[in-house]
Amino acid sequence: ATQPYDDQNIFAKILRGEIPSQRVYDDEFAIAFHDIAPQAPTHLLVIPKGAYVSWDDFAARGSDAEIAGFVRAVGTVARAAGLVEPGYRLLANVGQHGHQEVPHLHVHIFGGAPLGPMLA
Ligand code: 5GP
Repeated sequence: ATQPYDDQNIFAKILRGEIPSQRVYDDEFAIAFHDIAPQAPTHLLVIPKGAYVSWDDFAARGSDAEIAGFVRAVGTVARAAGLVEPGYRLLANVGQHGHQEVPHLHVHIFGGAPLGPMLA
């Protein structure tokens, strides 16, 4: 079972504006901001506005509107960053073995250079 949502996690605080972020996108369902420790020339994080621990939690409990809105937001953010033609990578770490560090669903967008077969 998924852990309960902790509303003191760092991305919850970023969502509420309690700690700063370099926000690049904001709509009804999602925000996006620059990762604080970029692992590619472009490294953005997209998070849903709803309180979801992980991809698994979101897929299980998210409404169809939230899921559609979030998926569209990820695409819009990558497109707005100019990543579509050169290409980019999406990543969502889930849980302990997935090395998820922040317990609010986030999708990483990596781009800005050829990435090779995989990021560590
Ligand atoms: P995870 O391992 O959970 O998939 O990734 C968490 C990501 O959040 C990491 O890439 C890390 O650099 C980023 N991160 C952690 N704390 C902060 C923060 O306070 N602000 C921003 N912008 N990114 C953060």
